[in-house]
Amino acid sequence: TPVIAALAYHDGQFVPLEQAQVPVSTQALQYGTGVFEGIRAYVQADGGLAVFRGHDHYLRFLRSARTLRIDVGLDAEHLCEVTAELLRRTGATTDMYVRPLAYKRALLPGTPPGVQLTGVSDALSINAFRMGSYSDRGGIRVAISSWRRPQSAVLPVRAKVTGGYVNNALAVDEARAAGYDDAILLNSRGQVAEASTSNVFAVVRGRLVTPPVTADLLEGITRDTVVTLAADLLDVDTAFHDLGRDDLCDAEEVFLTGTGAEIVPVTEIGGRPVGDGVPGPLTTALTTAYSEVVRGKDQRYQHWLQPVGSA
Ligand code: PMP
Repeated sequence: TPVIAALAYHDGQFVPLEQAQVPVSTQALQYGTGVFEGIRAYVQADGGLAVFRGHDHYLRFLRSARTLRIDVGLDAEHLCEVTAELLRRTGATTDMYVRPLAYKRALLPGTPPGVQLTGVSDALSINAFRMGSYSDRGGIRVAISSWRRPQSAVLPVRAKVTGGYVNNALAVDEARAAGYDDAILLNSRGQVAEASTSNVFAVVRGRLVTPPVTADLLEGITRDTVVTLAADLLDVDTAFHDLGRDDLCDAEEVFLTGTGAEIVPVTEIGGRPVGDGVPGPLTTALTTAYSEVVRGKDQRYQHWLQPVGSA
């Protein structure tokens, strides 16, 4: 079978990604009323693909959908099955990225667009395309954004809502315009919330710290993986407490975690080196452990991997 670079499960059908389209009247396009996920599938030692923590991503997807009153129409098990089928149909033998999107489609025909959530039909599109792993790159330089992370009384920040990413886009844009790779956003209390599409960890005076969910962040699945691997494999406990700007200045190590980003060392923040300005030992150890786990080289975490099987 030829490899199809990009495929979609769109309105219940498998189609080439470029055929997965929406009308301009789509409510989510006009008001940002959609929810999404980002999931990775990694090539394993046997050459087959396996989805990493797909079930956990879909549980978060369904929680996000519930917040926006979107009926996805499938439960987490069925979403995992559709995803496996989608990946099989691509015939891919390289690392892949899966982007599920559930969104508000339209009011009844002839009704003017409105911002309500009820009475608007729902739609599901799951897209799959090729995406290589970045695991081995060096450190990145980040800015502290002048944009604040909205608090949960403004937007449901724990849900992965499409419209909410205007905030993230503005932060990335500002950081890139100033010559940085990414941005760390503070919350309305002035404490670290997260980076544009990843969570933040720091080693401060020998202690691994990440902000708690009350810091107005998305509870990352990679964040959870890192906390688990640090405890199980490196005997390092993670403290969930607020990180201030002063902590970032003091930190020996800082790294970001996310499905797309994986684990990224931060070697400079706002013009100051982090520690010695090179990726630190804990960051490096976690990066190695993470890449082994996602490729199925560590038997203890096989339950996080769903083999896709062959077509
Ligand atoms: N925060 C934000 C704002 C994100 O977009 C992401 C990426 N989904 C994360 C954190 C990291 O989440 P995860 O590890 O589940 O990919």
